[in-house]
Amino acid sequence: MTALVFQNAACAWRCWYCFVPEELLKADLNRSEWFTAAELVDLYRQIPDGPRIIDLSGGSPDLVPEWTPWMMRALIDAGLAETTYLWTDDNLSTAYLFDELAPADLALIRSYRNYGRVCCVKGFDARSFAFNTRAAPQDYERQFEILRRLLALGLDVYGYVTLTSPHDDGVAQGVADLMDRLQAIDPKFPLRVIPLRIQIFTPVEQRLARHEAREKSLVVQEEAIAAWMGELERRFSPNLRALQICDVPLRTRVA
Ligand code: SF4
Repeated sequence: MTALVFQNAACAWRCWYCFVPEELLKADLNRSEWFTAAELVDLYRQIPDGPRIIDLSGGSPDLVPEWTPWMMRALIDAGLAETTYLWTDDNLSTAYLFDELAPADLALIRSYRNYGRVCCVKGFDARSFAFNTRAAPQDYERQFEILRRLLALGLDVYGYVTLTSPHDDGVAQGVADLMDRLQAIDPKFPLRVIPLRIQIFTPVEQRLARHEAREKSLVVQEEAIAAWMGELERRFSPNLRALQICDVPLRTRVA
């Protein structure tokens, strides 16, 4: 499957394993340009036999919460809304979508048919979150509140989780607590979540060199991923686990 990826070249966080070079995360005008949504859709149209998916990625797309509804309008205006799937990545770092968007924009996101969003939870407790993102530990909690609000909108939401941590105590308990939190938001949501194994892409190599805690966290993540899989087995029937990820029902979505 191919997708066209547009990146908002800014992010509030600095995950040590991010595969985007840091120069592309700081809204540097020397390495980025301003585009309107209509211009982006126009670029998309120019690709011969173009992909059917547009991914609004980053950095953090939601630093510009209007981007998603503006892209939706631009796709509708271009007659491409029915044939293009729009996808937004979300690092759960801002609530601008709720606090800053005009009601009509939020209503459009809720009603737009070919749309999905993937939210990335960083870590399985506040310490692993802070270690991974270099953000404040209390933002770990905030991720779940933002996720809860997104699901309450009735969107087609999926998840990633990164399970790296420099601490090897409390891993299984941390993963079980994480799954409890996700299930408190929606009982079946963990089945829509993919644990992302951190791999070493080129920009990561430098950040890993001579950094013992990061090296160790790659080992800890294996234990955490195994714990994640164990929790899935314990909590969900084989029938539910066999569902295609897009068929996992959510309380907030009408089938
Ligand atoms: S939140 Fe995503 S884009 Fe931002 S630094 Fe972390 S991995 Fe990179």
